[in-house]
Amino acid sequence: MGGGSAGWLVAAILAADHPADGPQGLQVTLVESPDVPIIGVGEGTWPTMRDTLRRIGVSESDFMRECDAAFKQGSRFNRWVSGAADDVYFHPFVLPQGYGDANLAERWQDAHAHVPFADLTSFQPHLCVHGKAPKQASTPEFAAVANYGYHLDAGKFARFLRQHCVEKLGVRHVLDHVVAVQAAPNGDIAALQGATQGALAGDLFIDCTGLQARLLGQHFDVPLLPQKHVLFNDCALAVQVPYPAEDSPIASQTSSTAQRNGWIWDIGLPTRRGIGHVYSSAHCSDDEAERDLRQYLAASGGPADISPRKLTFEPGYRARFWHRNCMAIGLSAGFIEPLEASALALVELSANMLSEEMPATHGTMELAARRFNDAFRYRWERVIDFLKLHYVLSKRSDSPYWSDHRESVPAGLRDMLALWRHRQPSRHDFGRADEVFPSASWQYILYGMGFHSAPGGGIRRRDNAQAADNYFREAASLTQRMLAALPTNRELLDHIRRHGLPTI
Ligand SMILES: Cc1cc2nc3c(=O)[nH]c(=O)nc-3n(C[C@H](O)[C@H](O)[C@H](O)COP(=O)(O)OP(=O)(O)OC[C@H]3O[C@@H](n4cnc5c(N)ncnc54)[C@H](O)[C@@H]3O)c2cc1C
Repeated sequence: MGGGSAGWLVAAILAADHPADGPQGLQVTLVESPDVPIIGVGEGTWPTMRDTLRRIGVSESDFMRECDAAFKQGSRFNRWVSGAADDVYFHPFVLPQGYGDANLAERWQDAHAHVPFADLTSFQPHLCVHGKAPKQASTPEFAAVANYGYHLDAGKFARFLRQHCVEKLGVRHVLDHVVAVQAAPNGDIAALQGATQGALAGDLFIDCTGLQARLLGQHFDVPLLPQKHVLFNDCALAVQVPYPAEDSPIASQTSSTAQRNGWIWDIGLPTRRGIGHVYSSAHCSDDEAERDLRQYLAASGGPADISPRKLTFEPGYRARFWHRNCMAIGLSAGFIEPLEASALALVELSANMLSEEMPATHGTMELAARRFNDAFRYRWERVIDFLKLHYVLSKRSDSPYWSDHRESVPAGLRDMLALWRHRQPSRHDFGRADEVFPSASWQYILYGMGFHSAPGGGIRRRDNAQAADNYFREAASLTQRMLAALPTNRELLDHIRRHGLPTI
């Protein structure tokens, strides 16, 4: 139920993995309301989206043309540490060169701390700075020279997925506003009652109705566990702005620029930029937030005549995501804030786990639900810790917003920070399958924000300075080769619009 990015992604993954005409196939029906629009934001994805799109059988060239999509190679964080103009660091999508093989962080701190950690260990920040694409025109669809995800138009993406689901994957599409839920005698959902088309019966109901969580939240009363005491942002002002010129460069990363009471995202699509100020209503008024957004636009070549769209949300996640024969995926399962763009990645992870662990009978439904709830409670907790890390390490002191962040650190994160004073984050800290943020991501943020181990460094493994230096040289040499060989983002996107990418 629900035809936003979440509903159509889940429908596509289930229908592609379990074709209705195959043995023990599934019949997937998606009902969406003609009266309730989709949220229409959510323009940044992770590299996981490449696997998802390939798996559901779309052409990458069609996807990029029809969804106004561009390449995303990570995030660039501006003014998060001191607030100064030269306060910049990257969280790229590629792992540091030689990650896991040598203690890069230790050597960086000992001998190279004057260079930002990601700039030393990875070629990708340099590609971003030079506006380079992550592949060449001859690289096949979905293959990468440098790991990448996408920036896309959320409205066009939902329509693109809908067409693919209906025309290629056999998903039945029902346009109807659900007005009631019919309960079965055992308490399960038996059917959804549509305003015009009657009852829709089913075995498993997936609530993708966005922030209202019509089934899991409203019908089953599964509460949202609020997280505003940890991550304060609950509002956003979003605008879409044209480029100053037709050939303006297209950024290859999401820019996140810290503000007095939040931060501003800046996402480059082929035909426009999507920009938004995420902020805490407890710390500033809408007028102040709009003033900061206007200042940002004025300084970055944006227009002055804007009418931002305001979005509000209650940061939190459901106490359970799967209850009886109903599960919530997408905004109905929870939403914290868009920093690090993890919402669609959680949708993909949820659909993947459901698809792989799809209960064959009602008898195993409860067990599947327990396993799913355990896996995703853990993932939401890690997302919260990871997002909070960005605020906790900031040294900004220009508003109570930042000091309040440093005074509300969850106990688990505080423990990890104490450990990391003596050793780098490792795979032992994040050992589950499909960790949302692997230890390399934690390192990129920690060291990007200048976190150092205690002087003298705690317990050290054998000295591998030589190995680390070799990897730093390798990253530098790859940087030179890739800068010379890769087209700019705009050049490659223009090429794809005209000629497409080769298929394998
Ligand atoms: C400010 C902001 C920025 C974001 N940025 C990012 C980002 O960069 N990256 C990212 O991954 N995510 C981002 N997100 C999250 C992302 O927007 C969502 O995860 C994504 O769009 C999925 O939304 P959804 O499909 O769950 O809900 P929606 O898009 O709200 O869809 C809800 C659907 O439910 C249907 N519906 C509702 N009621 C009924 C009814 N009674 N009967 C029938 N149908 C009904 C509606 O018609 C609609 O089709 C952002 C979110 C916000 C708020």
